[in-house]
Amino acid sequence: MRIHSQLCFLASLLLVIHARPISQPSDKDEATAEHYLKNFYNLTDVTDQMTVDRRESSQLTEKMKEMQKFFGFKVTGKLDKETMEMMKKPRCGVPDVAKYSIFEGKPKWQTNKLTYRILNYTPDMSKDEVDKTMEKALQVWAKVTPLKFTRIYSGTADITISFATGYHGDAYPFDGPQGILAHAFAPSSGIGGDAHFDEDEFFTLRSSKGFVLFLVAAHEFGHSLGLAHSNVRGALMFPTYSFTDPDRFSLPSDDIRGIQSLYGSNRDSTLIQPEVPTAPNSCDPDLILDAVTTLRGETMFFKDSFFWRINLGMLKPHYPKTLSSFGLSSLVRNVSAAVHDKSSGKTLLFIDKVYYSYNERAKKMDRGYPQLVESGFPGMTAEVTAAHISNGYIYLYSGTNVYEFGLYSKRFLRLLKNNFFLPCY
Ligand SMILES: [Zn+2]
Ligand SMILES: [Zn+2]
Repeated sequence: MRIHSQLCFLASLLLVIHARPISQPSDKDEATAEHYLKNFYNLTDVTDQMTVDRRESSQLTEKMKEMQKFFGFKVTGKLDKETMEMMKKPRCGVPDVAKYSIFEGKPKWQTNKLTYRILNYTPDMSKDEVDKTMEKALQVWAKVTPLKFTRIYSGTADITISFATGYHGDAYPFDGPQGILAHAFAPSSGIGGDAHFDEDEFFTLRSSKGFVLFLVAAHEFGHSLGLAHSNVRGALMFPTYSFTDPDRFSLPSDDIRGIQSLYGSNRDSTLIQPEVPTAPNSCDPDLILDAVTTLRGETMFFKDSFFWRINLGMLKPHYPKTLSSFGLSSLVRNVSAAVHDKSSGKTLLFIDKVYYSYNERAKKMDRGYPQLVESGFPGMTAEVTAAHISNGYIYLYSGTNVYEFGLYSKRFLRLLKNNFFLPCY
């Protein structure tokens, strides 16, 4: 997850920096774009419209806009750097639609008992590794649905898995190394449900040098079960490949919602706990934050030794930043609680037994901090896990207790219970 989050973050950073339109896309780039939009956005006859200038082709522009919209880019209809970079990323061969979504006509299997068959193998890995990878990739979906997968060794399976290069018997030839990694067909008889992997790629068990077969297969099996592409970054069904440690993979919630919209949830299983990431990954829908506070229309999110500062839903490109860049000691591993006092412009950050005071007006930490929480708030000996300010009082939470202090007098006033502010019937 750590590597994934950094890659994801770096990628978005690069995209933001390079978001300027490039003045003159080369002919090669234009051809790449046209090819991409034909493959993934159903662009049809551009040549008919190319009488004057292919850049003026209205269908090309519309399809480019559709693609930019899908990926959350600035919708210009122009082949800017950000759009071009995305078009060059290794990805799945199935076209894109919207956020977690299903294919047109909502195809799904009419039974929860499905069979799969591995027709041939890649020489990149051992047979045993391929067998275990496919089983594990199917289990990703089985864990959150009532679906059960049984392997068969002969005859016709619902999901036939094969490795192939170039033209391989369907209407969607593979393209050599990189580009398209694999594709799969929505549920139906015949080729429906089948998953094809481009043998011109180098597939691996868990190495980031090459493509992790488990990640590619789990994505393709999403299609085999009826899911189309999601535009939610970090979702398994996002169209581009993104390396994640396969041993720490957990199915993102967008994908869970998608597959459960088709097959329902798994009644046998106990509640599936999403894995808590060890480093902040703003692309991860299961991210659990340490502390959140608002100040002057901005919201600060803390996770481990990083924070984001976000203005009205606009993600600033240079986040997350390290806590040390915010004036905290580089030894601080995470913020336990944060609270902003509008009237003084100060934000208090609680870390274990100490706290800092950040002066919003001076844009720096106040001198004389960190202080022991106990000396700033006499009587507060427990670790602060949450805090809030209301009507001239500051409430420090710890375990099941809430300690009420005068905001300015810092005098301890009352000991309350956590649920004091919640309606209780
Ligand atoms: Zn796909
Ligand atoms: Zn194929």
